[in-house]
Order: sequence, then C-alpha cells, then structure tokens
Amino acid sequence: METYELTWDLDTIFEGGSRSEQLKTYLHTTEDHVTQLEKQVQSFLPPKNTDQKEEMAEIVDLTQLIIKELTEIGAFVSCLTAQDVEDKKANLWQAKRSELGARFDNVMTEFDQKMVQIDNDVWKSLIQEPPFSEIKFIMEERRHLAKDKLELRQESLMNDLAVDGYHAWGHMYDLMVGKMKVTIDGETLSVGQASNRLDSHKRSERKAAFDQLQEAWKGQLDLFSETLNHLSGFRLQTYKHRGWGNVLKEPLDYNRMSEKTLNAMWDSITEYKQHYVPFMEKKAELLGIDKLSFYDVEAPIGEATQTMSFQEGADFIVQQFSKFSPKMADFAEMAFEKRWIEAEDRPGKQPGGFCTSFPDSQETRIFMTYSGSPSSVATLAHELGHAYHQHVMNDLPILNQGYAMNVAETASTFAEMIVADAAVKQAEDEQEKMVLLEDKVQRSVAFFMNIHSRFLFETSFYEERKKGVVTTERLNELMVEAQKEAYVGTLGEYDPTFWASKLHFHITDVPFYNFPYTFGYLFSMGIYAKALEIGPEFEDQYIALLQDTGRMTVEDLAKKHLGVDLEEPDFWKHALDLCLADLNEFMALVQT
Ligand SMILES: [Zn+2]
Repeated sequence: METYELTWDLDTIFEGGSRSEQLKTYLHTTEDHVTQLEKQVQSFLPPKNTDQKEEMAEIVDLTQLIIKELTEIGAFVSCLTAQDVEDKKANLWQAKRSELGARFDNVMTEFDQKMVQIDNDVWKSLIQEPPFSEIKFIMEERRHLAKDKLELRQESLMNDLAVDGYHAWGHMYDLMVGKMKVTIDGETLSVGQASNRLDSHKRSERKAAFDQLQEAWKGQLDLFSETLNHLSGFRLQTYKHRGWGNVLKEPLDYNRMSEKTLNAMWDSITEYKQHYVPFMEKKAELLGIDKLSFYDVEAPIGEATQTMSFQEGADFIVQQFSKFSPKMADFAEMAFEKRWIEAEDRPGKQPGGFCTSFPDSQETRIFMTYSGSPSSVATLAHELGHAYHQHVMNDLPILNQGYAMNVAETASTFAEMIVADAAVKQAEDEQEKMVLLEDKVQRSVAFFMNIHSRFLFETSFYEERKKGVVTTERLNELMVEAQKEAYVGTLGEYDPTFWASKLHFHITDVPFYNFPYTFGYLFSMGIYAKALEIGPEFEDQYIALLQDTGRMTVEDLAKKHLGVDLEEPDFWKHALDLCLADLNEFMALVQT
C-alpha cells in the first residue's frame, strides 16, 4: 500500500511559490488581456443583425479566457496565504489580482448594458448561433439582470458611491469587531477566540464565554445598529430606484431559484420541526440541564474516541466513495497520489478548510488541517466532494461552470454524507455511535432552526427598515422573536445580540446569506436519497446533474435530473425524511 503525503504540491501550477517568475509572466499576460477587452468593449456597437456577430463573439471568447486566468491566479494566491499566513509577497499578488478583478467587473457591466441595447428579435436569433448557443443560459441571464437595472450612467454612479457609502459599512463592521476584546477568567481574548470557547465540552466554560460575549456585544450595540441600518438603508434605496419591491429579488436571482421554491422548503421544514422537540429535550437531559440555552444546541454530548491516520482516512474515503461511484473513488485516489491536498497539522497555517480550482490547469487543491477525528475525515470527504464537482465540469465553457451558493454545497454534502453514514455503521460501540449520530442530527438542527432564525430575522428587519431606522432595542426584540419561532420555543435562553455578532448580516456583497445553506443541505439530501434508491447506476446521472449546476435554474435542474418539482413540498419532505431517519435512530439508541 502506498503512503500519501500530507503536504500539497503547488509547483505544478506555478513554480516557486510567491516568488514565482511563471506567475509574474502569467499575471502580465492577464493584464494585457484585460486592457484589450476594455478597448474592445468600448468600441463595440450592439449588432443590428446576426451578420454582425463577429465582434461580440470575440469579446465573449476573451471574457472566458480572462475569467479562467483570474480564477487561476486567485486560487494560487489563496493557497499561498493559507499555507503560510506570514507570506507577505502573496498579499501583494492578492492586491494585484483584486485590482484586475475590479477592472474586469467594470468592463463587464458596460458590456452587459450594450447587450441590453440589442433589438429583441436580433438577440433571439443571435444566441441560437455558436459560440453563443452553448452559453445561452448565461447570456440570457446577464442580459435579463442588466435589464432590471438602471441605465449605465446611473448604475456606474451608484457603484462608485457604494464604495464609501455601502461596502464601507461592512468594512467598518469588520474593523470594529476586530478591535473588540472579551475578558474571560482574567484572560483578554479577541471575539474569535472567545467564540471558540462556545464549542467547549464544559457547560461552565460555554456559559462564561456566552455571558462575557453578551456583555461585550451589548457595550457596542449602538455602533452595530448604525452599521446595519445604514448598509441596509443603502441597499433598500438602490432597490427602490431600480423599482425592485421585493427584498428577496437579489438573493433569489443570485441563487437562480424562485420564491415559491423557497417557501415550499421553509414550509416543509416548519412542518417537520415538531419531530425535533423531543430531541432538544433529550439533549438537555444528556447535558444534565433543564432546557437548552442558545449555546448548548451545538455542544457535543461526548467525545468520539476512534481516530484514523491520514492514510487510513484516505483509504476509508476511497472505499466508501467506490460503493456509490467508482469514478468518484478514482478521482479521490488521484487527488491523494498527485498531492492535491494540504492536510498537515503545523503552525503558521490558516484555520479552516477549503477547496479551490485552477480552471486553466484543470486541477484543484484542498486545504485543511487533518487531526484524525471523525469530523476531520468528514471534512476531507466534504472538500473532495467540491473537488469532484469541479472535476466533472472541467471541459465545459468556463461561463457554464459558475454555480451559485445554494448548489455549491451539493457535491460536498453528498460526499460527506456517504462517509458520515459509513462511520456510524462501523462505529465500535454504542457510545461512539451515539456521538456520531448526534453530530449528524445537530447539523440538521443548525440548518432547520439556526439558519431559519436568521432568515426570519432578516425578513422582518427589512420590512421595518423600509419604514425607517430600526432601534437597537427593536433589533434585539426582532432577533429573539425570530429565534423563538425558529427553535419552536425549545430553548430556555436566546441570543438577543446575534444580529450584531453574526457577520453574515453585515456582508454587503450578498444579502440573505442564510437560506442557500439550508437549500444546499436538503437538496443534497434529496440527491443522496435518490442514490441510495438507485444504486451504482446513479453515478452517470449524478455527473450529468453536477455538470448542469452552472447553466440552469435550480427548478430546471431538479426537474431534468431528479424528475421532481422543487416548488412543491414532496421533494423537501423526502429529504427531511432522510434526516428524520438519523433522528429516530438516535432517539432509539438513547431511549434504551
Ligand atoms: Zn463546502
């Protein structure tokens, strides 16, 4: 048996790390391409008939080339900073990459607006012809979204004003949080460090962290209410001028899904929540308390003691993948062999894990710190799922490879599910099994309750914000109301300042940074149910589904590959049933 290395090989992408000459040359070429695109778009005249498509075709080709290059550079730089947080030179590349990205975005806005100017009939014939036909969905989508906006001059003005009047509030938030200090047991901690203590096995430690964090946030609430009110105010003004009445328009468009689908999902979840009430009560009992507090929900009920070396973890993953899809197993094996994974536990690395793609080299890299625990095996499987998703898309035009947040977690959750289920099945004793199952159920609770509370809060907050500034006291109230509803009253203590402490409410790039998580989880669960039902023959269907994730709405995707209607509750209930199976197994185990 072969021994896989714990460190990755980045030299096959660009040789020499942040001092790479190859990278320097590549970046210069990209810069030239962006300059060339700027010139071409500026002189581009919207075609009056299909005979005049040459220029537009050239622009589209160049656009795809630049996206490939920018992604390649961005991925490489993020690998460099992740493997060594002290790599200063990597930060310089990062800045350069961002600058090119901004130039590219601007020129694309201009190009989109010119596409709007094309006569509808000419447009309809144009996109039936190559090279546009194969990226028809994306072309239509871009033009459609551009149509919903104001004319170029007004949009440019708003974009320029947004730098200091909108995004700056998000940066201000980050800055203020970065300066906050929390004192626990005489120790001065950052917010991040204090929040880590909320994961503690000891309730007294969790409680101390929660109480002190509440104190710290309470001292700053007036400032955070300013940042939130202003960034949402800017957002609502923008919507008003564009004539967008529904605050969900932007996030739904971005996720290529309908409001009907969103409602079908939440309604089904709400219906199933009662099944989780006994679980919440049981968990409180297992933790030796009356009722769970907000900080108890994700607390571990014990420790899984079984560990696997990196090699054992890798072999386990490959073996489990092969039961569902030999192609996926082969891919994972190749990733281990070719050293596409950085898993070593050493100082100086960034925390967390990610998977990033190099569309030009047609390779991916996975970053994580492997500890040998069941959760790190699950993380490794999760990231390999992302990598496989990219792998099956490699030969598609790059514009068709861009999938939204709600389907981005499809392949990863699917891969993680395979491995987590197998781990439960081969658990050595009941205690181990209980811990692993509880971890799975607790994940469902996070998606169905915690994420739901964020969605409910944001929805009611925006309604009130439309009428004027929402006070700090009111924000606290709205937050607790949302949590009570989402957790169906199962908690003894809620988190009123969650609207301030959760970064996601303060992100300006993507509003409603919540429901796509739950969508992704349940969508993937539905696919997993299908895979269990069909067996190994599902492999090619699964690949075909993944390949379409970047070129259709989620409703079309589900209809085409799963034969289901996402706007109806059936699909969601099937997925929820699968979650309930874990819940029931857990409850049966603790009842005995
Ligand atoms: Zn992921």
